[in-house]
Parts: sequence; C-alpha cells; structure tokens
Amino acid sequence: MKKLTDNVCYTKGIGPKKAKLLEKLNIHTLEDVLNTYPRDYEDRTHITNISDLIEGEKMTIRAVVGTEPSVKHIRNGMDITRFMVYDDTGALEITYFNNKYAVSLIRRGTEYLFYGNVKEYGNRFTMTSPVHEKCDENTKGKIVPVYPLTAGISQYDFEKLSQDALNCEFPKDNDPIPKDILEKYDLLPLDKAINKIHRPQNMDDIANARRRIMFEELFLLCCGLNQMKQHRKHEQGAIFENTNLDDFWSLIGFKPTNAQLRAVNDCIKDVKSGKPMNRLIQGDVGSGKTAVAAALCMLAVKNGYQAAVMAPTEILAAQHEQSLSPIFAKLGIETVILTGSMGVKVKREALEKIEQGYAKVVIGTHALIQKGVKFAKLGVVVADEQHRFGVNQRAMLREKGDHPHTLVMSATPIPRTLALIMYGDLDVSIIDELPPNRTPVETFAVGENMRRRVFGFMERQISNGGQVYVVCPLIEEGELMLKNTENYAKALSKVFPHRRIGVLHGKMKPSEKENIMSLFASGKLDILVSTTVIEVGVNVPNACLMVVEDADRFGLSQLHQLRGRVGRGKRKSYCIFFGADKSLLARQRLGVLTQTNDGFEVARADLAQRGPGDFFGNRQHGLPILKNVDIISDMQAMEQARYEAEIILDNDENLENYPVLKNRIEQMFEITGGTFN
Ligand code: ADP
Ligand code: MG
Repeated sequence: MKKLTDNVCYTKGIGPKKAKLLEKLNIHTLEDVLNTYPRDYEDRTHITNISDLIEGEKMTIRAVVGTEPSVKHIRNGMDITRFMVYDDTGALEITYFNNKYAVSLIRRGTEYLFYGNVKEYGNRFTMTSPVHEKCDENTKGKIVPVYPLTAGISQYDFEKLSQDALNCEFPKDNDPIPKDILEKYDLLPLDKAINKIHRPQNMDDIANARRRIMFEELFLLCCGLNQMKQHRKHEQGAIFENTNLDDFWSLIGFKPTNAQLRAVNDCIKDVKSGKPMNRLIQGDVGSGKTAVAAALCMLAVKNGYQAAVMAPTEILAAQHEQSLSPIFAKLGIETVILTGSMGVKVKREALEKIEQGYAKVVIGTHALIQKGVKFAKLGVVVADEQHRFGVNQRAMLREKGDHPHTLVMSATPIPRTLALIMYGDLDVSIIDELPPNRTPVETFAVGENMRRRVFGFMERQISNGGQVYVVCPLIEEGELMLKNTENYAKALSKVFPHRRIGVLHGKMKPSEKENIMSLFASGKLDILVSTTVIEVGVNVPNACLMVVEDADRFGLSQLHQLRGRVGRGKRKSYCIFFGADKSLLARQRLGVLTQTNDGFEVARADLAQRGPGDFFGNRQHGLPILKNVDIISDMQAMEQARYEAEIILDNDENLENYPVLKNRIEQMFEITGGTFN
C-alpha cells in the first residue's frame, strides 16, 4: 500500500518525467497532492433534457447513441466524427475532433452521460467534444474536481494522483483544530474535509469542506501571530527614562495635532514599560506620521541609543533625511543616510559612523538590513510605509539591536478585523486628524473630452506659482515603461513649451531620481511626469495639482495615495483622474474618490469592488499567503478564528498541549520565510 510520503513518480502513468513537471506546482509527494485542492468543480450531477439545452453552457445529458459514429477526414489530417444521440425529449448531434480514442469507446444503442458545451450551427445544436461516461441505472453523474495544471499534466493524471493519495492511510490525530472548536463551529474533521474537497458527492460537500479548510488557515494564522505577540511579552526592552520632548517640538516648526500627540504618548508609555514597543501607527496620507517617528528617534537619542528609520524607496529615504537632519542637527544630533546606491567610500564612512555610534539617527532603505550594517546601540527601529515591507524585513531590522522598540507606520487604511489579523502582533495607534488648515483635495474624474480644459487648468496653476504632478499612462514595467514615460513627457512639452518638465521613473539611477526630486521640491521644475514611484510618502507642499492618466487601471487605495501627494501645503489643491469615460464601472469607481477624501472609506469601497487580493494576495506584508480565504465573505470566520486563537494561547502560550497545531503553525510561517520567534 502506498504511503503519503511516497513520491508521485510511483503513481501509475506518472513516472519520473511527469514527476519533474509536477515539481513546478511544488508537488513532490502524495501528501502534496492531497494538499493541492481543486481550483474548481464541474457539476455533472444535474442532468438536462435534450429539449432544454441552452446554447453556450456546459451541460450534462443522459442519452442513447442512435447512429453509428461516422468519421470524415478533412484538411491536414484532421478527423471529425459525428453521431446522433437521443433521450425521451429529443435528439442531438455529438461531434469530436481528432479523438479516435474517445470515439472507439462509443457503441450504438448504449446509454452514456455526455458533459460538454452546446453550440448552435446553422439551425441545429451540437455538443462538441464532450466528456462521456457509460451508464447504468445507478449512474447519477458526478462532481468532477478541476485541478490546477501545468504543461504536460492532465486532469486525468491529477485524478489518478489524488485517488492514490486518498487511498493512503490518513494519519490519525493529525487535525490542528482542537475537537471542541470543530464541534462549536460545526466544522468537518481534517480527514473528512480533505476527502470531500477532492471527491465531493454534492455541492454541500464542497461548501462544508471549503469552510473547514478556510477556517483552519485563518486559525493557524491567528495562532501564529498571537504567539509572536505572547512571546514578546517576556522580552526585556530598554527603559527610556527621559521623555521630555519640549526642545524637539519647539524646533519642528508646527504645533503637533492632538492625534500626533496621542500617538507619541502611546509610544512614550511603551518605551517606559520595560518591554519592547511594537506599535503600528495608522494614519491617512498627510496626517503627519513622520513627526511621530522623529519624536521617537529623539527619545532614543536622549536616552543614549541610536534610531534607525527604514523607508521603502530611496526617494523617500532622501526626503526624510532632508527634512529631519536639520532639526536633529540643531540639537547636536548627527543623522546619516544609508542606501544601496551609495558610493563605496561614502557608504564605508556611514557604516563606520553607525558602528561606532557617532551616527545617532540612521535613515535608509532596505540597505539597513544588510549583513554589513552594525549598530553600536540600536534602541529604536521605525519602518515607514509598513505595507511595503514584510513581517520578515521588520524582524531583520529589529535584529540589528537588542530588542529595540519598533514602530511601523502605514497609510493603507484597512478595516479593523483585517488590521487585527494582518497586524495581529502589533499594538495600534490611529492618527485620525489632519494638520489644521488643510482643505480637502478637490477631485475630478474626467474623460478625453476634458483634456484641453485640463491642460488649461494646469497652465493656470503653474502661472499662479503652483506645481503639477502627472502620473503617466500605466504600461508594463521594463524598457517599454521607460520609453513611455519619456515619450509622454516629450508630448507634454509640446503642450507646455515654456514650462520646465522633469521625468521620473523606476528605471532611473537613484542619483538621477534624487536630483529630479530635489529640483521639483525646490521649485525648479513646474511639472513632474512620473510613474507611480511617487506614490509613497513624497512631500512637496507647493505641488497643488495631481493629474493621473488611465486612472481606471489603478486600485482606489493607490489612487488615494497618489492624491495624497498634493494638498500638503497652503495651496488649494486638485486631483484629476483621466479614464472615467472608459466604462460605466470606471466612472463609478473613480466617482468614489470624487466623493470622499477619507482613506478608510476609500479602502472599504476598494475592498468591496476589487476584492481583497491586494491585501492578502500579494506577499509584501510578509504574512503567509492565504490560499483559501476570501476576506469579504469570510469576515465572520476571521473573528471566530481570532477569538479561539486568543483563548488557546492565553491558556497555553507554548502550545504544549497542541503539538499538531504548533507544528503546522511553524510550517506555515516557515514556508513564507517569516521569522517565527
Ligand atoms: P504622512 O503621514 O503622509 O507621512 P507627513 O509626515 O509627510 O505625512 O506630513 C505631511 C505634511 O504635513 C508635511 O509637510 C509635514 O511637515 C506637515 N505636518 C505634519 N504635522 C503637522 C502639524 N501638526 N501641523 C502642520 N503641518 C504638519
Ligand atoms: Mg509618510
């Protein structure tokens, strides 16, 4: 008898060649096959009368073959086979192309189930290349799993593999979900769920199996995150005694908002507690998160520690450095910047200063987490625009110090439940107030017919001393993108021959990017044509108009981020999205942005319209990928999983009574490279 640990190559018809192909799907053993769930099902249980067939839909009929299959050779060795079948309600033609094998099994006078697409040719219906199965009285038709495939592997191969896997002895006591939870939520035990997901008898089986599998995934995730949080409770954190920030606030040039003060006070409570801080600051674009980060860095330095601020792009790192280092310098604090593109010599100097502790505040990109970077005494770590970093990168930065206080900042507003899960290991402060005297960015969604007026509007803004961002049409990355941005800028310079136009795209050298950014920031450019590299965090308060081409092709949250680049200073600001004329949907989506400036509301609309792919689908957040969860419809399950995870871990922090669960959590977090401790 086969075992689940057996390699797939021993399954009949597979062999080493196909086993190699299966590796592409990450399938090595029969157990891997069991864990590869069908991506869909074909419901062949519902039998339709021939008289009720509908064109264009896949349907099952139960019919007797009435004529001898006749083969015709047509051009290029193509065979076409036709025959008629009938049931009590009518007759239908069946057609196969180049399928001698299928045809050879068909017998006149015998009854089959045919499952396939019906098309109308001329005035008659034909079912083309149906799947067929001989039947007797008991045949009911079945629900057939549709597996994810790779070239060279057929559904038939997969069916054999999954059958082999299902025939293996299933390990006992292997369910990571405790029995009482299964009962409480009426969930299938693991073995039953696996069986039903691969071989459902009816649609209910599929729904129940999926519900159980999804719950498991959420439950494992919640337990894992909760465990991280629990473990951290035992860690010792540096205690910052001196928390007076009067000198800092007097230098920063504005009065902090109440929301900023609240966030800073949350941080102060944390850094006095003796435990390492682990806090997320959520605040809409422009809410002034940088000042909170700076205040925290200040606290580190005052108490004899270094602080590191990690930004997702070089532009952003440079910008932070430019705005913060003068303030720190007035207090005698040295700031250095560290990015991947720095020259060897400058970098070596920076590294030395960091290692010897002269550099008190270090601002940089991912370069900060590289091996060669050593801190003398790192006490505070800040990750800006957290959604761009993974849990993992956060952890790597943290490891540069001895349990430093960690602050992550995000402008991606997400619903509460989702936040609790994605940031399940963090405490959260919310900045729900914008600095005073901001007027909301006035937003328009327009079509091509408005182009001339928009250009006129741009001209007026520039004449009044303002500056304009234009985000370029969206096309593929790579060479083409580069050309596109530059061509676009060229075309624009014909419209605005007397204006200074700069170009910014991801393929430029960091030093070039920085140069362009600082030209724009210092008012030496009127228009900045850019790809979405400016999406994150860039701050040029004099810019008062943002024009986005092809806006219908961006996510709403991303557009909201782009819009956040303007309305940062005293000027009344505007945002114009092109693309509203492309479809009704485009107009509706972009319409959301014209109606609200509230990032949370935008995110909610975005989630509802586009689904959660962006939140859980990509890997940037560094959490394990959830394969079976749909955030919107599974909100309730999420709450339940989180609740149960909390109870279990409160009572048994190391999961000593739950070895299977413990094991599975470790696997889940390991696979995605998440650091788990
Ligand atoms: P974000 O939260 O998007 O990172 P920033 O920290 O970049 O926002 O702040 C946006 C702009 O608002 C900056 O120009 C900053 O100097 C300014 N700002 C921040 N806090 C205040 C405040 N309390 N009063 C006035 N301006 C502020
Ligand atoms: Mg920011």
